Amino acid sequence: MDSSHVENDLVNILFTEEQIQQRLAEMALQITEDYEGRDLLVVGVLRGAVMVMADLARSMPRHLEMDWMAVSSYGSGTKSSGVVRILKDLDTDISGRDVLIVDEIIDTGLTLSWLVNNLSSRNPASVEIATLLRKPEALSMPVEPKYVGWDIPNEFVVGYGLDYRERYRNLRDIGTLAPHVYS
Ligand code: 5GP
Ligand code: MG
Ligand code: MG
Repeated sequence: MDSSHVENDLVNILFTEEQIQQRLAEMALQITEDYEGRDLLVVGVLRGAVMVMADLARSMPRHLEMDWMAVSSYGSGTKSSGVVRILKDLDTDISGRDVLIVDEIIDTGLTLSWLVNNLSSRNPASVEIATLLRKPEALSMPVEPKYVGWDIPNEFVVGYGLDYRERYRNLRDIGTLAPHVYS
């Protein structure tokens, strides 16, 4: 592996591809049980949730529909700007539908608390959240994800959909970046 290989920028791997797949399979099983007999619409939050959505959805042996929303609360760096904007709205009318929002990480919870409010105002039958990761800060926000992969320390992580300046989304594992990347 030469030094330009993207994996070399990770200093600490928190979750390997295998661990992620294992955890998503467990979550998928639980979701499948909970939504038995109901018509499920899974909403992925672009762009970070693409990988989680693809793997979680394929772990569910049931019919479901997928739609996508793009919202922006972050600039290009590592801090939230505090303002949420819809960049791409749903194509689906969710009134009367059971909606499960799929996201890759909850940090401050700002994005998802805003999104839950926004979707709830469209009269769905239910709105729940599944997130692969959650940081402790999220506990202070009015966001209660029904499904959480793991709680993680308050560090900036990348990989498996999570970016730093739009890079690293394509890593199979999740980890933290070497200091040289930021300088
Ligand atoms: P929140 O609104 O919960 O603070 O942030 C949600 C969004 O911020 C996530 O969907 C993700 O795009 C971004 N984000 C929060 N924490 C991290 C992190 O540790 N790494 C990366 N790459 N993105 C993060
Ligand atoms: Mg996200
Ligand atoms: Mg990002």
